[in-house]
Amino acid sequence: MNFSSDFTMTINGEAASGGASIDVINPATASSFAQCPDASAEDLDRAVQAAKDAFKTWKLVPVEERRAMLIKAGDLIMANADPLASLFTKEQGRPVTLAKQEILGAGYWFHATAALDLPVDITEDTDQRRVEVHHEPLGVVCAIVPWNFPVLLASWKIAPALLAGNTIVVKPSPYTPLCTLKMGELLRTVFPAGVVNIITGGDALGPMMTAHKGFAKISFTGSTATGKRVMEAAARDLKRITLELGGNDAAIVLPDVSAEKVSQSLFDGAFSNSAQICVATKRLYVHNDIYDDVRDRMVQIARRAVVGDGSQQGTQFGPVQNKAQYDRVMNLLESAKAEGLTIHQGATPDLEGYFVPLTIIDNPPEDSRVVVEEAFGPILPMMRFDDIDEVIARANNTDYGLAGAVWSADIERAVQIAGRLETGTVWINENLQSTPLTPLAGHKQSGFGAENGIYGLREFTQPKAIYIPKSSDAVA
Ligand code: NAD
Repeated sequence: MNFSSDFTMTINGEAASGGASIDVINPATASSFAQCPDASAEDLDRAVQAAKDAFKTWKLVPVEERRAMLIKAGDLIMANADPLASLFTKEQGRPVTLAKQEILGAGYWFHATAALDLPVDITEDTDQRRVEVHHEPLGVVCAIVPWNFPVLLASWKIAPALLAGNTIVVKPSPYTPLCTLKMGELLRTVFPAGVVNIITGGDALGPMMTAHKGFAKISFTGSTATGKRVMEAAARDLKRITLELGGNDAAIVLPDVSAEKVSQSLFDGAFSNSAQICVATKRLYVHNDIYDDVRDRMVQIARRAVVGDGSQQGTQFGPVQNKAQYDRVMNLLESAKAEGLTIHQGATPDLEGYFVPLTIIDNPPEDSRVVVEEAFGPILPMMRFDDIDEVIARANNTDYGLAGAVWSADIERAVQIAGRLETGTVWINENLQSTPLTPLAGHKQSGFGAENGIYGLREFTQPKAIYIPKSSDAVA
């Protein structure tokens, strides 16, 4: 498709420029390269009204037709993966080939979600009556998305919300608005006007949305601190919420694995996307017997890794996505230095952007900031352990509970350990996996509710029980 040269919002099926605009920064150069609209309260009202109007008819569209439109949307996103990927790299920083994987992943998610079903459940079927539970759409959904996976995480909300019969207003992060706006251009050609609205704006827009009375549901992905504000705002009129929040995920590596075989995977599980993944390994616990070997190999990988501008061939790791996050990560690094911790680092390019060296902190104390806080940047604390019960307690000693991993040649034992981790997801001998059929659901302060699969789909619905008598004898 020929994209327009400017960046416009999608409101009621049409391009909308909004009055003001905000700069979009390329994190590899730390300079502005485009502008996106800064939606006003009136723009938001128009988007919500359009979605409300569209809901009246969209909810009645047969599910097979909704499915067909989701598949068409997925096709269009995939067909435009190349232009979207180069734009993605400019706004997000990730190397182009990896950026393309995210765009293709979003298309795939539309397809896979289209195949889900919301059958009527029967909870009683006797001679007297049948009780049916229908899953009705909620109304207009407010979708708020972060900057680390802007396109994929938007698709996790748009596809199930629409399949269930809702309409939606999507807000990407002000740091990564552009690909989502372009996705809006594609979706405008598929869905009836008002079904999908995409608006962008600065820091004021998120709170304006969560306070807006027109929304029936908020689907939010972002930090735990913001998630709590979203929950407070939703409480005012009991909007439904799904919150996918932060994590401080632990990986536990038992002594029966080969350091040579696992080190690269452990490294990737921590540093992919420059460690800006909610479910990345953020605390790595390695058994004493193999600790030195694993550490030395991972330090070598960090030293060899190519960090740079994602638009350049050969770059493996891009910059940290934005200045605020860069400052946070550098502050954490400074505090590790001030604490006198042992630090191993790779190189950074001689560029203006927000580059942080891939950093491994060697066996810091359990209460140091780099262990306790979610870095959400390329600083990995790696700790020794001897006793499995003790390391499980350390892994669980956090308010977060998003994901975790166990690495062992003894799969049965690993499954037992997985059962003791207080997280919504545990991987065994792998990392960072998610599928459109499997719930991503944060335990503790990592979330509320679930995304993906039938679990996520149901969160966009209201169960409605209908008691149906088998005969009308009692009344006529
Ligand atoms: P953030 O919470 O700062 O922002 C997320 C989104 O919320 C952005 O669109 C932002 O503009 C908006 N927002 C900010 N303040 C708001 C408010 N008061 N009301 C409503 N909306 C508001 O998070 P971020 O820095 O963009 O993303 C990083 C965080 O997201 C990390 O903690 C990471 O772990 C988490 N994350 C979680 C998942 C998951 O699935 N659990 C996935 C990706 C990222």
